[in-house]
Amino acid sequence: MKAAVLRAVGAPLTVEEVDLSGPGPNEVLIRVVASGVCHSDLHVMEGVLPYPLPTVLGHEAAGVVEDVGPGVSALRRGAHVVVAVVPSCGRCRLCLRGRPNLCTAIRGRPGVMADGTRRLRLPGGEEVNHFTMISSFAQFAVVHEAAAVPVREDIPLERACLLGCGLLTGWGAAVNRARVAPGSSCVVLGCGGVGLGIVQGCAVRQAEPIVAVDLWPQRLEVAARLGATHTLLAGQEDVPALVRQLTGGGADYVFDAVGSPQTAALALSCLGRGGTAVLVGVGQRDASLSVPITATVLNERAVLGCDYGSAWPQRDIALLADMYAAGRLKLDELVDRTYPLEGVNEALADLKEGRALRPVILPWGDS
Ligand SMILES: [Zn+2]
Ligand SMILES: [Zn+2]
Repeated sequence: MKAAVLRAVGAPLTVEEVDLSGPGPNEVLIRVVASGVCHSDLHVMEGVLPYPLPTVLGHEAAGVVEDVGPGVSALRRGAHVVVAVVPSCGRCRLCLRGRPNLCTAIRGRPGVMADGTRRLRLPGGEEVNHFTMISSFAQFAVVHEAAAVPVREDIPLERACLLGCGLLTGWGAAVNRARVAPGSSCVVLGCGGVGLGIVQGCAVRQAEPIVAVDLWPQRLEVAARLGATHTLLAGQEDVPALVRQLTGGGADYVFDAVGSPQTAALALSCLGRGGTAVLVGVGQRDASLSVPITATVLNERAVLGCDYGSAWPQRDIALLADMYAAGRLKLDELVDRTYPLEGVNEALADLKEGRALRPVILPWGDS
C-alpha cells in the first residue's frame, strides 16, 4: 500500500510503498477513507513531540472495516468506523469510574501496537513505527478493535474523521470536562480544529457570551458562524480587558486550546471570581504555568487539565455523528480542502500557516 513516511525531524514526508501485515488478535484492518491533519502530526514532524522514527503519521481517521482479526466480535467487514485516539478497556478502575480517556490498559510503547509488535515494514524489511497505534496517512491501517468506533453510514467519512480527534477533544472539553452550564460566560483561546469544537460545545450548552480569540481573522469568522458571540484578534486587542468588559468582570470558563505558557497565563488572567481555566492544548512537553495562590484561593478559581475531551469515544462519537446528521453539529465548515496522499506536505504546511482549518487527506483520492 501507499503510505506517507516521516524519516527525520524537519524532513518532508515521503509517499512510498509500505507493507502492512495483520490484523492480529483483537485488531481490525481499516481501509482509510479520510484522515484529518492535526497539530500533533505537525508537532512530531517538527520535533516538538519526540517520537521514534521512521513512522507513518496520521491519527484522525475514518474508514471502512476491511478485515477483522481473531477474537473480534463487535465489528463486521464493511462497517463504517471512526478511529478513537485513546482506546479504552472498559474494565479497569478508571473506565469503571467513567473516565475511559485516562485508561492505559490498551497502550503500547510509542511506535508499537498494544501487543508490542509492529505491522508496518519497508520493502527492505525495516520496521516502521505506528503513530499512536493508528498511522492513517496511508491507504490502510491496523488498529485495536477498541479504537474502531462504528458510526452511522449515512454521513460522509471525510467529515466523520474529525470526530476522532480534534472536534471530540474540543467539544468534550466544554461538555464533559467543564460541564458548562447555560448562561455561563466562556472564552476560547485558539480557534483551530480543537478550539472550534470548544466553541460548538459551549454553544450546545447555551453559554453566553462565547468569546473566541485567535491570531487569524479568517478563523474568527468561522468561530462566529459556529456560535461565538464575540471575537477578539489576539496580538492586536487587549484580550483580558475586553473579556472583563464582555463578561462583567471575568469569565466563568476560559479554554486554552493552544497550550503555550503564554496562552495558559492569558487564560488565568481572563478568569472571573469562581472561574475555571481548562487546559486543552499541548505544546512543548516541559512547558509550565505559574498559578498565583492567593488569587486562586480567594476567588475560588480552578485549573483543569483535559485530555481527549474527557471523552468516552463509543458514546460520544456516535452522539456527535447523530448531531451532525441532524444539522446540530457543524463539520462542513471546518474542512476547507481535501488533499490526495501525495499532497500531505502541502496539507501540513497549510495547517501550520493557517491557510486551512482542517486539511483532510483522502488516501484513495476523491472516489
Ligand atoms: Zn489529533
Ligand atoms: Zn480501562
